[in-house]
Amino acid sequence: MLLRLRPTATEADLEVLRRVAGERGYAVKLLDARRIVAELTRREGRPAAGDRSAFEDLAFVAGVLDASDAPELSERTPGREDSVLRVGEAAFGGASVSLIAGPCAVEDERRLLEIARAVKASGATCLRGGAYKPRTSPYSFQGAGREGLEALARVRAEVDLPVVTEVLDPRDVGTVAAVADVLQIGARSMANYALLAEVARTQKVVLLKRGPAASVREFLLAAEHVLARGNARVLLCERGVRGFDQVTRNVLDVGAIAHLKRVTHLPVIVDPSHAAGRPELVLPLARAGLAAGADGLMVEVHPQPNEARSDGAQAVSPADFAELARQAAALVRLDGRRLVVGKEATGERAERGKDKDSKDRELRESPGRAGEGVRP
Ligand code: PEP
Ligand code: MN
Repeated sequence: MLLRLRPTATEADLEVLRRVAGERGYAVKLLDARRIVAELTRREGRPAAGDRSAFEDLAFVAGVLDASDAPELSERTPGREDSVLRVGEAAFGGASVSLIAGPCAVEDERRLLEIARAVKASGATCLRGGAYKPRTSPYSFQGAGREGLEALARVRAEVDLPVVTEVLDPRDVGTVAAVADVLQIGARSMANYALLAEVARTQKVVLLKRGPAASVREFLLAAEHVLARGNARVLLCERGVRGFDQVTRNVLDVGAIAHLKRVTHLPVIVDPSHAAGRPELVLPLARAGLAAGADGLMVEVHPQPNEARSDGAQAVSPADFAELARQAAALVRLDGRRLVVGKEATGERAERGKDKDSKDRELRESPGRAGEGVRP
């Protein structure tokens, strides 16, 4: 490991460094005459995921230049392939791309059922819908709560789609986890470490959204909070960061998606809905996310956006979602990946006039990236 020390580091600081390094099994060698670059070499024991943070936290350490010999749990070490995360028929990572779709919030059960059936027919393999909503205003609809969870449970049983739903409060984790297949940690909660610890304990898949002002490093360390507690099933979600312009609700950080695919083995999905903030930009942002390497999409869908109690302004119609799914399948095929669609997808997204069955087969069986052997 290579550290950059502050030029003000004293002999006493170097003693602290030697002590902390020694406790972690490293020997310290100062590499330059100014004594600001320190090389730590492992003498004994195995590198621990916490080694980097232990040195980073020292006041006289300006930064870690290279920690490749002490990888954190989210890190893609050389030669490490994607972690493939499976939920029901969905698979995220490797050669597999999957779609999560549904309303922003669970409103009423009939509407949820209608949306679930529509998105499933188009190829979505997970249903999203919030029963607990993090709303900017305390006076806005906060979600249907327990009734919403019950509706999700019934719709899941009826339609047979795994459910992705948000948990906001550590006290609700047990109740939400009883229904959810995937626990969503919203952007506002990314740095709620007590909540991350609670969701880690459930061993459910955790869909972790990037905070609106979180750096990629902060995002990965939030994931590390879950991984370090023994839950390896983390799905990262880029949903746009706060920008200065109003033309989109958030700025979809396409560069971060491409970067994340290089530095972590965890699957990365994109939420184009919260980045776009308006329906006509959802498809192009979805395409951009997939082109940058995302392993899936999470899209807000509503048949009557004017009636939606949350995020109606950015919802796409079921028909537009069908078109998005069709384009997603075509796009990921270009780089040797496949869109995983459920066995029961009716292929509504298939081009009009084509044989639906053969189109479905094509979507399901198009070959993955050579050598990865990932099956949907
Ligand atoms: C949501 O998914 O509806 C949501 C609240 O998203 P975010 O946490 O990204 O704002
Ligand atoms: Mn929303």
